[in-house]
Amino acid sequence: MTVLRADQLDADDPLAGFRQEFELPTGIYLVGNSLGALPRTARSYLNTELDRWSTLGAEGHFTGNLAWRDYHELLTDQLATLVGARPVEVVAMNALTVNLHLLMVSFYQPRADRHKILIEDHAFPSDHFAVESQIRQRGYDPAQSLITIGPRPGEETLREEDILAAIAEHGDSLAMVLLPGVQYFTGQVLPMRAITDAGHAVGAVVGFDLAHAVGNIPLELHEWGVDFAAWCTYKYLNSGPGSVGAAYVHERHVADPDLPRFLGWWGTATATRFKMDTTFEPIPTVEAWQVSNAPVLPMAVLRASLDLFEAAGGMVPLRAKSEKQIAFLDHLLAQRLGSRITSITPTAAADRGCQVALRVTAGDGRRVFRELQNANVHCDWREPDVIRAAPVPLYNTFADIEQFIDILDEVTQ
Ligand SMILES: *Cc1c(COP(=O)(O)O)cnc(C)c1O
Repeated sequence: MTVLRADQLDADDPLAGFRQEFELPTGIYLVGNSLGALPRTARSYLNTELDRWSTLGAEGHFTGNLAWRDYHELLTDQLATLVGARPVEVVAMNALTVNLHLLMVSFYQPRADRHKILIEDHAFPSDHFAVESQIRQRGYDPAQSLITIGPRPGEETLREEDILAAIAEHGDSLAMVLLPGVQYFTGQVLPMRAITDAGHAVGAVVGFDLAHAVGNIPLELHEWGVDFAAWCTYKYLNSGPGSVGAAYVHERHVADPDLPRFLGWWGTATATRFKMDTTFEPIPTVEAWQVSNAPVLPMAVLRASLDLFEAAGGMVPLRAKSEKQIAFLDHLLAQRLGSRITSITPTAAADRGCQVALRVTAGDGRRVFRELQNANVHCDWREPDVIRAAPVPLYNTFADIEQFIDILDEVTQ
């Protein structure tokens, strides 16, 4: 077997220069799955808007090619490219859980004979709460209407055949499937196309939470026929704490007059919006789901980051680097840590993104995590027993991975 060397891998990496485009905390930053790093250019994108605010005041809403009234449109093409969607299908707005609620208002239409929602067992709590409250809001009972699917006993990840079997089993009574694109705990990529096909085959609507998928793996939402999706932009999309979320609705639904929707003034046609008329004229795109005017300052930061994704050539080269990085990480884990650490992330490249979830087999996981923190490794601890670390191809080096393994080796001796 050839010996892989971090310095050689970094020297051969065509994307290596992008690390310089980020301001990273000191130490080894492996927590872009939680909060992506600060793009250097965010400061100037943000300052531009602060300067426009300072000089133009309220006129900034209508003036120039950065007019705040239409600012969200500046993000659409790049976001659509990242998720494999058409521009009419994607909008940056609100925050992730808010968007899940707004989309469920439209896409969860329970009836006496079809009222169930399938989610994963131990879903990210916000998703679980959102779904449970939507079920109650429509007068149904989560005890009957909330179906969950988990790994088999003794296993860590979901099996495709089990997900598809659960969809088929609930069949006619299933109203909606809502699953993650990438599971936040294990880093498992779910088979989104197969899930979408299976949901549609029984007449259910299929949506995905892409919090851990967007900017991590290539996506083809339009092609897969996914009905709706939502994501945040502060993880792999590097737009800063609490930044704006985004939503996708398939083209076949965007102008459907029969879909119920919660309305606000940002969803009505721009030509008549400021006439302050109370007749709602839905924008014939996913923008009709907008409720409030958009948060321009976090969007400015997001633009800085999306320009870097574009400059890097998008998800295909980024994913190619990411696959090399996870292979390198796996190789070092096996070689150096042996049985002291178990990865619960799937091993096949197609089934995982850049994050690994590590369980300390020998000794106290929390202590190991604290010692990693003391050694300036930025990773995170997820209850009950997992250390998550994510080498992000846009700014992490192969040397970061090697140093992480060196330190992990030391603190698990
Ligand atoms: C990060 C994350 C969230 C966070 O939701 P916000 O509304 O942005 O606070 C929700 N769900 C999943 C699956 C996540 O990974």
